[in-house]
Amino acid sequence: MKDGVMRPPVLDPLFAPVSVIDGIGPRLARTLANLLPVPEAMEEPRVLGLAFHLPHSIIDRRKQPGVALAPEGAIVTLKVRVDRHQPSPRGRGNVPYRVFAHDETGEIGLVFFHAKAAWLERALPVGETVLVSGRVEWFNGRPTMVHPDHIVSEENAGSLPLVEPVYPLTAGLSGKVLRKAVLSALERVPELPEWIDPHLLAKQDFPNFRESLERLHAPRDAADVDLQTPARRRLAYDELLSGQLALGLVRRKMKKTAGRVFKGNGEIAGRIRETFPYSLTDAQERALGEIRTDQERPERMLRLLQGDVGSGKTIVALLAMANVIEAGAQAAMMAPTEILARQHFASIGPLVEAAGLTIRILTGREKGKAREETLAALKAGEIDILVGTHALFQESVQFRDLGLAVVDEQHRFGVHQRLMLSSKGQHSDMLVMTATPIPRTLVLTAYGDMDVSRLDTKPPGRQPVQTVTVPAGRLDEVVERARSAMARGEKIYWICPLVEENDELKVVSVEERFDALKKAIDAPMGIVHGRMKGEEKDAVMQAFKDGEIRLLVATTVIEVGVDVPDATIMVIEHAERFGLAQLHQLRGRVGRGTGRSTCLLLYKEPLGEVAHARLAIMRETEDGFRIAEEDLKLRGEGEVLGTRQSGSASYRLASLADHADLLEVARDDARLIIETDADLDTERGAALRILLYLFERDEAIRLLRAG
Ligand code: ADP
Ligand code: MG
Repeated sequence: MKDGVMRPPVLDPLFAPVSVIDGIGPRLARTLANLLPVPEAMEEPRVLGLAFHLPHSIIDRRKQPGVALAPEGAIVTLKVRVDRHQPSPRGRGNVPYRVFAHDETGEIGLVFFHAKAAWLERALPVGETVLVSGRVEWFNGRPTMVHPDHIVSEENAGSLPLVEPVYPLTAGLSGKVLRKAVLSALERVPELPEWIDPHLLAKQDFPNFRESLERLHAPRDAADVDLQTPARRRLAYDELLSGQLALGLVRRKMKKTAGRVFKGNGEIAGRIRETFPYSLTDAQERALGEIRTDQERPERMLRLLQGDVGSGKTIVALLAMANVIEAGAQAAMMAPTEILARQHFASIGPLVEAAGLTIRILTGREKGKAREETLAALKAGEIDILVGTHALFQESVQFRDLGLAVVDEQHRFGVHQRLMLSSKGQHSDMLVMTATPIPRTLVLTAYGDMDVSRLDTKPPGRQPVQTVTVPAGRLDEVVERARSAMARGEKIYWICPLVEENDELKVVSVEERFDALKKAIDAPMGIVHGRMKGEEKDAVMQAFKDGEIRLLVATTVIEVGVDVPDATIMVIEHAERFGLAQLHQLRGRVGRGTGRSTCLLLYKEPLGEVAHARLAIMRETEDGFRIAEEDLKLRGEGEVLGTRQSGSASYRLASLADHADLLEVARDDARLIIETDADLDTERGAALRILLYLFERDEAIRLLRAG
């Protein structure tokens, strides 16, 4: 690392892997990796990830109505005297163990399945008064509580949490275990210097950073977990400020360096066009024309290439790269996931090589000697195009002369990351490709000041995808349909959502669905999900492409870009839980070849009005822009930008929809900081550096003095 870019040691406890916490072993760390972001070079999430994992609601146990007045289905706390135990009859473990207790209003049965008698006798001694808290259900006029959440003796009444936070969970993780881990993480949060301007702090009534986290994890009321509570707004502001500041620092740096003129002779581009099996559509030619005009101008290009899934963005980007290579420079293409990077490499590789160029790939998986060779060749200018994941921003990656950075599917990256890649080149241009049909009104918030080219028509010969919505109750019919399609040799995607909320929601997991389908259909199937290693995922995707498996059960890891042209059926379970942009992306995986394709959207009943309208839009149109506009009308911008549904969203704590006012304040604040303390040298500047590290915007710090 260069001087001055070391992370301040005060943050070390937060940047440590979660397994440094007592009680978190490798197994739990792996489970947590399904819930929390895992940094690129790490195997497991950071302690900070736990601290930032906020509860979304509370369980309120403050109601103490007395046994007889406890409402059906309500969570209550009861102070009762234990009367008698009625153990399960011998050899009949399926009959529950019951404990009867009463208060002055009436009697209640506490019900335990597969209970350990010794434990129950200790927890609920006959004749003692205890507090029990849980959900009350009434059967035949008698109240019962099945497996109380808490049982405490009268003298320990204070240890019963009357208000409990509820966290987003993942399969295999209980609220209790997560809660314990979060509390340990909180203990590791240090007191940090204040980076927020004192006037703003007072005006917004913001608690300090550490206190904000503590408050959010110890709600006393539903209002305490609200997005608008001062503690939450404080953290949202921190995140927004770090983003705006990083963006501002990068912009300032970019402005200081002029762009260059890239004017190729068209030779390489010509060869690529010859090898490419199709001629470009008018929309592609127009976009390429706009890009070339930018490239030939002495300012830096910062352009967004917006085009629906399958609209043919890749070839446009490739021809833009050819132009800078003809002019003697190098090009890079960055994808958000390993699978996508490999797919780009596989699809453009042959075209590039046929044109006599050298292309290589660099991801977290290229290691050792091969990696070093690539890095050396890159620096020596022997590589024309480097394809990769965000491994491309690492400091060790040095180009001889980067002329154009292409970033694919950008909404997966933070805005700052995108700009970071271009800062690898002295005066390089930037082309961002996105399949997210973001309405014009939102381009600015999401991308900053960029010019936009749109591919508004698809290449000829595409078949429309027939979209059907099916209630989950008719799953059997869908399975039957899948069976007969597979018998005809068709390929099917079957998508299950990530399990992220309470287990109560009973969302089917990929594994469960895979097992059930395997039993139901006798044909080769595969499974891909986020917990698998990169190589494993790729192997399964490849087998699906090759036809060795013909049904692929997956989470949204296949969401973007993966190309299997002969897949014809897309089944999406719990479609009501997905963002429309995401459904549209998923649907775009089929209808790419010559066969007729179908998309089956399974939903769980009952559907709310908005959910109903949203699924109707999916049936009505395949126009990604229209879908995005309608979605925006129905749901607000945070959803449309995918900041809520995608695990790797650019914002973790802020919501563009709910904290839009703070975004503006942060933008102004960042501008002022850059005007007055651009190198972050003041005392507040030092605190702001910590903020940048905290939200992993620290790449920006490298720009402070360098260059
Ligand atoms: P996306 O915009 O989703 O990245 P791709 O660039 O992957 O789309 O293109 C999707 C498919 O369309 C690819 O198989 C590509 O070869 C093909 N394609 C691109 N341009 C054309 C064209 N002008 N005519 C026919 N097919 C094309
Ligand atoms: Mg693509």
